[in-house]
Amino acid sequence: MTRSWKRALLAVALGVVTATGVVSPLTASAAEAPGAGGVSAAANPATWSPPSNLVTPLNQVWSHQESTYGDLYGFRNYGWDQVFANGGYLNFCVRWDSSAPVSASLRDSIHTKLIQQYRKWMDLMVGHNNWPYAEVPVKVVGWAVRDRNTLQWNDNSVDIYVNNIRENAPQCAEPCGRFFVRDGQYRNCPGGVARHYDQSLWLTSGFGGGAGGDWGQRMGSEYFVNSLGANDMTILLHEIGHTFGLDDFYDWTPSGVGGFLMKAGSASGITEFDAWMLRDWWRHLKSRYGR
Ligand SMILES: [Zn+2]
Repeated sequence: MTRSWKRALLAVALGVVTATGVVSPLTASAAEAPGAGGVSAAANPATWSPPSNLVTPLNQVWSHQESTYGDLYGFRNYGWDQVFANGGYLNFCVRWDSSAPVSASLRDSIHTKLIQQYRKWMDLMVGHNNWPYAEVPVKVVGWAVRDRNTLQWNDNSVDIYVNNIRENAPQCAEPCGRFFVRDGQYRNCPGGVARHYDQSLWLTSGFGGGAGGDWGQRMGSEYFVNSLGANDMTILLHEIGHTFGLDDFYDWTPSGVGGFLMKAGSASGITEFDAWMLRDWWRHLKSRYGR
């Protein structure tokens, strides 16, 4: 999956949004996937205490990120920053870049799946190393489409943005988006702070693979809908990892670790190594939030 951190960083610097790359679809097989089911909130260690065999690879990963990320310690829009800016929640816009109709039922299933997959990451932080939140609620506040008739509901549970096209795709209003507005006030967003969005779930018909960054996560709309029944929606999980700073591993592998989610194609879900990479990001950034 494309690690679009550098692109995302560049986009912020230039004040524009860049489209992200298209890469090959994942080919993760169940046989390659270390079981991640044992990682639960109740099992989270209270302190920085990775298994001894993971200490060296974790240090390798952090050093690699320090040498390859353009502004590792200065960048201020990681998923971490977004959670803290809100005081512990995240809002989403769905960019439905497809002509396939969406029923109210499908809409709700998409929301539920996003919430469930996000929780797999956030639950790893509960009770760990002075992380302050027992949960990080995720709420979809808007949908963006080309044609209102694509959305087959009439309730006002989400804001609907029609034919607001950026990057050749529907987008929720920029005055409501954290990627564009950083004062936390959202004065020009019709729904104000309550209806602002931190990230976009960008679902594109025919899109292969995925992309992720501070702006959200992108993948094929067909992939998302066809994976609604899966416990692990692998591409979404991987791209959320990027939102929280985690890197790709296309050209190297840390010492002594096997398959893991952020090494695309080598695991289908979050492994213990992925969990500790997430916690390592927190370890390095937590002082930013006075923790
Ligand atoms: Zn990736």
